[in-house]
Amino acid sequence: MGSGGLRSGLPELVSKLIQIPSVNPPGFTVNVAGFIKDWLSTHGLSSSIYEYSKDKPNVIAKVGKGKPVLILNGHMDVVPPGDESRWTYPPFSGKIVEGRVFGRGSTDMKGGLAVIMVVFAELAPIIEEAGAGTLIFSATADEEVGGHTGVEALVKDGVLVGDAAIITEPSGSTRYYVGEKGLCQVRIVARGKPAHGSLPILGDNAIMRLMKAIERAQEVIDGFNKSISIPSELIDAIRNSAEAYLEAVGASGAKLSLSDFEKVVGTISFNPGVIRGGSKVNMVPDYAELELDMRIPPGVSPSQVIDKLRSGLNGLADVEVMDVSDPNYTSPSERIAQLVHEGIERVLKIVPKPIIVTGATDGRYLRARGIPTIVYGPGELALAHAYDEYVTIEDLFRVHDVLTYVIRRFFNLGG
Ligand SMILES: [Zn+2]
Repeated sequence: MGSGGLRSGLPELVSKLIQIPSVNPPGFTVNVAGFIKDWLSTHGLSSSIYEYSKDKPNVIAKVGKGKPVLILNGHMDVVPPGDESRWTYPPFSGKIVEGRVFGRGSTDMKGGLAVIMVVFAELAPIIEEAGAGTLIFSATADEEVGGHTGVEALVKDGVLVGDAAIITEPSGSTRYYVGEKGLCQVRIVARGKPAHGSLPILGDNAIMRLMKAIERAQEVIDGFNKSISIPSELIDAIRNSAEAYLEAVGASGAKLSLSDFEKVVGTISFNPGVIRGGSKVNMVPDYAELELDMRIPPGVSPSQVIDKLRSGLNGLADVEVMDVSDPNYTSPSERIAQLVHEGIERVLKIVPKPIIVTGATDGRYLRARGIPTIVYGPGELALAHAYDEYVTIEDLFRVHDVLTYVIRRFFNLGG
């Protein structure tokens, strides 16, 4: 089959991938991995399966040899469809209507997965023949629940190691992600002294303590936010991100301004998510806790945030660590970032915008290994995990064409 056929078959391929559910949890990828392996094989490409957790295989294919090594990555798992009656077309129908492919995973990210399958199949023989380096295709498991048995394990195992990486998560064809915020989730625990509710003076109310602790925690974070400084090479990206989020929320964010979004992207966010405490209305509670979610920008580490909270809450409440991850980014001056930028500019005639996202991707594991990583793929951030999720056929073709340009340039293939 000629390359034109592969490109024009993209919508159909996305549809087929959607029709093989890989909902996480449980996150089983056996069927979709099998389909991808067979598809690659039909196009003359061999691949290997790496399975770090039962029924959650990853598919890896490599062509060419030596340096430089470029990694293409996409995850196969999708989030649950939710209430299926709220979908216009059944979530696993992969229905193609009016220039869009609908279904769970269309945007996040079977669209991006299909694009790298096609681009890999098209360019593999050219890279092989030119002896230009190594191109790695990877379709991975587990992203929606942390990537531990997917990209994280593959990086640790030395399977996914290279000079640069592109992940086709849904940035949309006119933007690319250079970085993401880190995570700092803590439990704030207040302890008191029980007593009968009719004589509260005899006790020490843990709920009242926790309320004070929450207020103080917010003051601590507000104060810390005034002192943090974002790496200067990311200042533009913060502004671009604020614009992107403002646009994504559309009319529902009418009361919010660009500076509100600049603040939420460029500083530590503060969201008390769960509160628990007390056991009976007529008792003075001796225990209350808050689960607090904070997302931290590049330039700040989770341990700094925890230290500040601990000293600020000293004597009032304890701070227990739930989950942390470092913010991470690839310098916009890295070659892979510049190639993606140039590719969008040349192929789409659009001046693209590097942005920082507030959520985490598997890119963090590659960056932690020192691999410059850019996220660039079809779809829209606002549609990921939504009802009536879709990807436009135009976006699939655009990202296909940009990535073809980027990969050719990366390997100095001309054309
Ligand atoms: Zn995703």
